[in-house]
Amino acid sequence: MIEPPVKVNASTDDVIAELKRRPAFVMVSHVKPDGDTLGAGLALGIALKRLGKRVHYFQQDAVPRNLRFLPDAEHVSREIPADLPADALWVFGDMSDMARAGEFLPDIDRENVLNIDHHLGNSRFGAFNYVLETECSTGTCVMRLLRALGVAIDRDIATCILTTIMTDTGGFMHSNTTPDVLHLSAELIAAGADKEEITEQIFANKRFAAVRLLGRALEKAKLERDGRYCWSFVDDEMLRVSGADGEDTEEIIGHLRSIEGVEAAALFKSYDGEIRVSLRSSGRVNVQAAAARLGGGGHFRASGLTYEGSLAQAVADVEKALVAEGL
Ligand code: 5GP
Ligand code: MN
Repeated sequence: MIEPPVKVNASTDDVIAELKRRPAFVMVSHVKPDGDTLGAGLALGIALKRLGKRVHYFQQDAVPRNLRFLPDAEHVSREIPADLPADALWVFGDMSDMARAGEFLPDIDRENVLNIDHHLGNSRFGAFNYVLETECSTGTCVMRLLRALGVAIDRDIATCILTTIMTDTGGFMHSNTTPDVLHLSAELIAAGADKEEITEQIFANKRFAAVRLLGRALEKAKLERDGRYCWSFVDDEMLRVSGADGEDTEEIIGHLRSIEGVEAAALFKSYDGEIRVSLRSSGRVNVQAAAARLGGGGHFRASGLTYEGSLAQAVADVEKALVAEGL
């Protein structure tokens, strides 16, 4: 069998040619979806539908409460229609590895995979890899494609793209908030993006249970290495007494990172039978490299991993990995 050509680094033109050629698409977002993976997939999906294409959205997990306002979010599911054409293109958004899509994905031929991402160390798992590491979000990679496609940026598409930007820049606070990002955001708001709604849903819509959980996690926080490292954890018991669930843990790590003098922060999420670790850096320590030492990944300043072992081992190994990266 002849191997299909692989575009390790596909150009915008390569991707556009493929989008035009294919009749049907499945937009794939990652497990524990955030506003970037979902917003990027929805924006491209909505645009492709406008061009007369057939579009499905695949996501293993349910749409989080605070992202249900996104246009087309009601069409996201883990069902794959039986009559999906064999040459449908599977578009993975915001994933450095295919495994981030979860376990419910059917077998997909590599020739049918387009990988759109902005993570460091993306494994180039697609036949077409559109990986722009300098972009602030996967949504702004998609925006480049939409411009090249000549699709009108209506309020729905603008809302999806602005959601990806506000999610991944932490509401224009992170170092990836460049002048270009602000120019594009202004353009999206002018096009009708609902900035009020995005701010409200993503940053000001915490459940009381989440605030109670935050209090518990902050109480348990440890400040180590002369105040340069702060870590804490959330376990099943803390979720139970707070009345919270996994979606309520999002904000905790930012508080740990925001402490004066802290260069790296870690949150150990030990519930539902697994340990997920979130890492954040204030700019000196590369937490992507630290996570990669333990099988995870992400960005220089924000990364994550799943740890196999006990919480105590996870705490010890993560600190070791951070120290190896200069903490
Ligand atoms: P969070 O802490 O918000 O879950 O993740 C922070 C960043 O790390 C995100 O950009 C996310 O994509 C990445 N990340 C989180 N968990 C993993 C993982 O298990 N593997 C990889 N490769 N990246 C991850
Ligand atoms: Mn992202």
